[in-house]
Amino acid sequence: MSTENYRNSDSFPTRLENTLKYCGSERILPPRYSEATRIASRKASRNHRLKYPEREKARQKAHGLPLQPCSVCASPESVHRHHPDYTKPLDIVYLCRTCHAVHHRKEISHC
Ligand SMILES: [Zn+2]
Ligand SMILES: [Zn+2]
Repeated sequence: MSTENYRNSDSFPTRLENTLKYCGSERILPPRYSEATRIASRKASRNHRLKYPEREKARQKAHGLPLQPCSVCASPESVHRHHPDYTKPLDIVYLCRTCHAVHHRKEISHC
């Protein structure tokens, strides 16, 4: 066994300890999210909230309400809450994904 090998094996417990300390204090993120992506998305959602405070409020209020079938085709699948007017957060139109997309294609409106 060379001196170098001995040194490497000797430093192993220290490295392991560092790893454990790191794992204990840091939240491990799924590997598909890089630090940059995480920061960018957090920044984007904050900008979004600042830009559309009413929309955000409307969404939060509407969130507790039970979903209803699509008001166009009565489908219970993938129903979205569509807000025709964000100043009226409880004025909700239930639209399935398909009808919601069609609706937004026809007229310029918020979500
Ligand atoms: Zn529908
Ligand atoms: Zn919408």
